[in-house]
Amino acid sequence: MSEAKGANQTADLEIDAPTPKGILERLARGEILLAEGAMGTEQQERGLEQGDCGEEWNISIPDRVREIHRSYVQVGAEIIYTNTFGATELRLAEHRAKGRLEDLREHGIDPDDLREVTRLVNLHGARLAREASEGGVHFVAGDMGPAVGDKLINGFFTEEEVSATYRDQALFLKEGGVDLLAIETVFDPQESTLAYRAVKDLGLPVLVSLAITRRSHLGRPATDFGILVEKIPELYPDADIVGINCGQDIDLTLEAVGALRGLTDKPILAKPNAGIPEYVKGKIFYSLTPDDLASYAKRFAEAGANIIGGCCGTTPEHIGAMRVVVSTINESAGLN
Ligand SMILES: [Zn+2]
Repeated sequence: MSEAKGANQTADLEIDAPTPKGILERLARGEILLAEGAMGTEQQERGLEQGDCGEEWNISIPDRVREIHRSYVQVGAEIIYTNTFGATELRLAEHRAKGRLEDLREHGIDPDDLREVTRLVNLHGARLAREASEGGVHFVAGDMGPAVGDKLINGFFTEEEVSATYRDQALFLKEGGVDLLAIETVFDPQESTLAYRAVKDLGLPVLVSLAITRRSHLGRPATDFGILVEKIPELYPDADIVGINCGQDIDLTLEAVGALRGLTDKPILAKPNAGIPEYVKGKIFYSLTPDDLASYAKRFAEAGANIIGGCCGTTPEHIGAMRVVVSTINESAGLN
């Protein structure tokens, strides 16, 4: 594995990818797979300011993104999420409006050409994740987060605009060579349903993972966690993997995974935060330790999760601690 390749070399990379079916086959044999941990909070540790466009790093400082991916691969993560959580054109347009894409000029990219910016951010994101997984069987999940959040409910965007922005992002991620598409951390079921419908026929496995909170979110009773979890099977009937990630309270995530297991035979993902975020001296702090997450990994497996990873506040140390638990469970089931 060569170190520190430049962005141009990244674009030329050709690495054998596992087949798109590979991940589903491994899940079908009963194996539990380990997903990576947080990207956003790891970027903040490396200088990203709250509100800045972390996805732009795929072009402007790819070495730091590569380093984060590799830190997760090194501790045994098998599913690597691309650094494209907010890389829909609609989200990037917000950053553009706030002048946060100016660094791209130094790389010969016009920030006003948002379609090209979107394409390159996703393409480079996919290739950086693929490159980090070089030398092992890892799966690259094309990460797709909320595009507009409550601006859909409030009428600032139409359903057609939201669908189109997700479809474009998914096509660019596919072009970059991802193994599956991962819609995650979407609170609004209307938005996640549009995303799912826009990408489900692109020939890649689709994972839909919702963020939930104890109380209804965005003022919608439909986001009450009990109601929402019950609706997952009917909202995403052909999704290959469903799941719960982010949110706040890890016990709620655990409860939701258990409830979901009773409703579907599909593989389930659990990717909790490292506890409830707290503000300490102006910084966000997550209280759960790697050992805490390791004991939760066991409980998530018992509740029926097939993929276990971490969301906000989780680090390579957390994922490494979870690796030990997941490997033990797989080995005791005769799956190595
Ligand atoms: Zn999160």
